This record gives sequence, C-alpha cells and structure tokens, in this order.
Amino acid sequence: MKTLTLPSALDIEILPPKGSISNRFSSTDENQPEQKIRLKDPETGQVWGFVVVDNTVRGPGLGGIRMAQDVTLLEVSRLARAMTLKNSAACLPLGGGKSGLAVDPRFFHEHPSLKEELISLFAEALYKIDTYISAPDMGTNEIDVQQIYEKISEKLGTRHHRRGGAGRPPEKGGIPIDDWGLTAHGLFIAAKTMENLAGGFPVKNARVVIQGYGNVGSWTATKLQQAGAVIVGASDIHSALWNPSGLYVDELNRIRKNPLGLQEYTGPLDKRFGPEKLDWLLEAPCEILVPAARPDCINAKNADRLDCKMILQGANTPSNKMTEYYLQNRRGILSLSDFIVNVGGVIGCALELKMTADREFKADTLIKGPKNYLEELIENTVSKNVSEVHNRMTTQKQKNIIFRDEALKLAEERLNSESNKEWL
Ligand code: NAD
Repeated sequence: MKTLTLPSALDIEILPPKGSISNRFSSTDENQPEQKIRLKDPETGQVWGFVVVDNTVRGPGLGGIRMAQDVTLLEVSRLARAMTLKNSAACLPLGGGKSGLAVDPRFFHEHPSLKEELISLFAEALYKIDTYISAPDMGTNEIDVQQIYEKISEKLGTRHHRRGGAGRPPEKGGIPIDDWGLTAHGLFIAAKTMENLAGGFPVKNARVVIQGYGNVGSWTATKLQQAGAVIVGASDIHSALWNPSGLYVDELNRIRKNPLGLQEYTGPLDKRFGPEKLDWLLEAPCEILVPAARPDCINAKNADRLDCKMILQGANTPSNKMTEYYLQNRRGILSLSDFIVNVGGVIGCALELKMTADREFKADTLIKGPKNYLEELIENTVSKNVSEVHNRMTTQKQKNIIFRDEALKLAEERLNSESNKEWL
C-alpha cells in the first residue's frame, strides 16, 4: 500500500441486531451480538472498521483492536464472543467486545503520524460507544490504547475511568501483561492442576512442544521447565527446533526477539525446519502441546497425526469443536479450552481498569504488590475453573462430553447467575 487518504471522521452505523441476546451460548454459535457497528467515512461511505459488543450482562465489553487489511465483521464478532466467554468464566466485571480497523498495519511503519491520526478518529468514535473498552491486539499496541485513553479522559474531564482502554504502557499506569508472563502463568497453573487432578498428566519430566515462542510461549516454556518439564520443541515464524533430550530454554529466551529469532539457536538439535515446514512440530511426540501462535492450527488435516496427551490452548481458537471431539474420543487427547486457561492477560487488563478508575483500590493494590495480587488471582481462577470443568466432564453419564462442552456451560452459568459474582 503506497498511499492512504484518511477520512475526515469515522461515522458510526449501527447494524440491525438479528436474533435474541438471551441464551446466546447455545453451542451452535447462532446467536447474535448485542451491538454491531460499522465505522464509515461520512463523505464516501467507505468502511474503515467494526466494533462489536457481544454481551454486557457482566459489564462493558472488553476486547482488543485488531488492525488488518482484511478484517471482517464476522471475524470481529467471533473474537468478541470469545471475550464474553473468557470474562464470564473468570468472573470479571466485564463483558465481551472486539474491534477491527481495516488497514494494513505495515503501512504505518513508515507513516507513524498517519497512524496517530487514524487512532484519533477511532477514539472520537469510541467515545460515543460507552459499552466497549479497547485493548491492544494484532497490529495495535499499548501506545495506541494510551492515545485513546488520553482522548477519552479529555472528553470526560477526568483520568479516573474505565472507558479509555486496558493494556496501556506500564509507565503510564498500565499492567505489563507480557513482561510479567501473566497469560503463561495461567497455562502453567492449568498444567499443574491437571497433574494434581488426574494423575495421568505429570508435569515433571513431561515432554513439551511450544508452537509460537513469543510472549506467551516463552514464559510457558520457562515456567514448565522450572517445574521439571523438558522443552523438546519450539518454533517461531523462522524456525522449528526439535531435540528429544531438551532445548536450552535460556538461549531460546535470549534470542527470541532477535531479527532472525529461533533461527539463531546454536544448541544441539535432532531436527531443524525452516518456514516451509514449521507445522511439522505440531506432530512431534510429546506429552504437552502448547499452540501459542495462530488460530486454527490444529484441525482435521493434522488431528490424526498429533502425538501428545494434552493440548494447552495458549493461542485464541487454535482448534475447533469438531476437532476437539475427534481428538478426545478417537485419539484420547485432552484439549484445555483457551477461554479457561489463557485468561491471565485479561485478568491483568481487568485489574488495570479497576486501578485506573478507583484511586483507593489502586493505593491498596500498590501496597499489596500488583504482580503478587495478579498471580494469586490467576492461580485461584484457573485452578478452580480447570478442576470444576474436568470434574463435570468426568462425572457425566454421557461418555463423549469434551472439556469445551462443560467449559461453555460454566461460562453461561456465570453469565446468567443472579449473584453475578466477581473475583477481582
Ligand atoms: P507474540 O507475537 O509475542 O508471539 C507469537 C509467536 O508466534 C512469535 O514468536 C511468532 O514468530 C510465532 N509464529 C507466528 N506464526 C507462526 C507459525 N505459523 N508457526 C510457528 N510460530 C509462529 O504473541 P503472543 O502475545 O505470545 O500471543 C500468542 C497467541 O496467544 C496469539 O494467538 C494471541 O492472540 C494469544 N493470546 C495472547 C495473550 C497475551 O497475553 N499476550 C493472551 C491470550 C491469548
């Protein structure tokens, strides 16, 4: 993309809702979000993006801003639904939402001031949508959310509110979700919970494969290794590495952010693949497979060839319901659902929002230490939810129930419960 002419404003077009918002968790995915909005250029009618508020029963819909040229209303709607499930299962005072801006983010590498202009227009539009709270996602970052927070603070005449977004820079009051490894902490706790519950999934000496050695993947590897697991495989966008005797996690952590990423790994290896064969690693023998990169990487094409016992879903929607049925009932592979185990980041966002809005709570939390507070909250949330879902799943008379079925029911119950309890 060589040029980009921004509109003078982003107008809000509210799309008619279809269907009812009650019983929206029927597993058929047929239910509709509460609010679907198109963002349009008032002069040309060109569509620049979408905001979807899936459900606000527990609170305003929190979810990231995805910036991608080909982002669609359907994609944003599916992601908003996933946020409702996550926030509800974790008993957060938040609903589910998501937004998308239909622009290639690479264009802004050379034109940062244009990105600032676009985010400013977006912030103006978001001010009018008081049921949605933004956060960073693919193509956007903490600086973009800070810009939205500044604009909304100016309009509200206060800096103490939840509307400006979560995932802001730590030096501006944000929680360093990636640097504290919060999402990985939840994944680690899920693995430890399964170890204690079922006995069949020991972490000590478990062989672990990590697909996507980024923020989530690297911290998950580090925590599992510290608990005695052996990281036998790791991949990023450049390389897939395999050594059944174990990879050097310290070296992986040191090189992962370098321009060539894991391609720079110098430790002993049994196999190394380049970009054309990265997915080989998903089929490598291990006990715990952690997809922590792209959606839909575990699917009908590779379900027969996976060679693991348990899948810890670090990425959002790394597989689908049908594949999980097949894996569990035909292959004996258990999948721990994303919206139950990868909630550490969103719990961090919820704490940040509460600290921004409530000065007294912020002062108390700073005394306790927000990192300790969060790790404890994530541990309690994930261990309780994994135990509960696993217990329901294994005590059902019907034999082919999968983890996701019971996880969905749990999220629905929490959403509809009259007490609407909060764990934050
Ligand atoms: P990241 O960008 O830090 O890491 C992603 C890693 O995946 C990178 O190392 C990248 O090179 C690698 N990758 C990309 N495509 C790949 C491929 N085809 N094969 C192998 N590796 C590939 O991102 P992250 O923050 O670690 O997030 C990872 C996933 O987890 C995303 O799906 C994200 O939506 C999800 N998630 C993240 C958080 C969080 O707190 N960061 C929370 C919940 C869910």
